[in-house]
Amino acid sequence: MPAPMAAAADSRGRSSVDGGEIRWEDETKFDDARKWAATAWYNDQYNLKKIKIAPDAWNTITDLEWKDETRKDVTWVAQWRGRSGADAIVMNKAFLDGGKKYGSKSWRRKAAAHEMGHALGLDHKANGTLMSKSIGYLPSNARPTATDRNAYHRLWD
Ligand SMILES: [Zn+2]
Repeated sequence: MPAPMAAAADSRGRSSVDGGEIRWEDETKFDDARKWAATAWYNDQYNLKKIKIAPDAWNTITDLEWKDETRKDVTWVAQWRGRSGADAIVMNKAFLDGGKKYGSKSWRRKAAAHEMGHALGLDHKANGTLMSKSIGYLPSNARPTATDRNAYHRLWD
């Protein structure tokens, strides 16, 4: 965030979903945030079960790779990349490492859950939603709001 492309509509085509699921591979050091993003978007309590979000396995193909970069030359805190090759969620250590501007569990969870929303095909939404364009406007509980969940259901149900 902000997205690398101009705002577009929610889109199955611009997502990491393949065969009704996102199988991810873990190369990030931010394990808590990675786990949070999966459970925030794949759980019974909020009726978000349409798209399975699970680790890669011996018999699955990786849809999404979690990884870290240290980029001081950019403004994005984390970024979903779905443009070519294997999709990725990149966590920017220049912002998310301990002692950095967003270097706490709460900020990391917000950033990771937001990017998982992009991996699910969601575009930016109004301030106050999990898909807010700016990290400062994301909900403090780092969960999809009703607006985010409705967009998910419109796209995938
Ligand atoms: Zn974004």
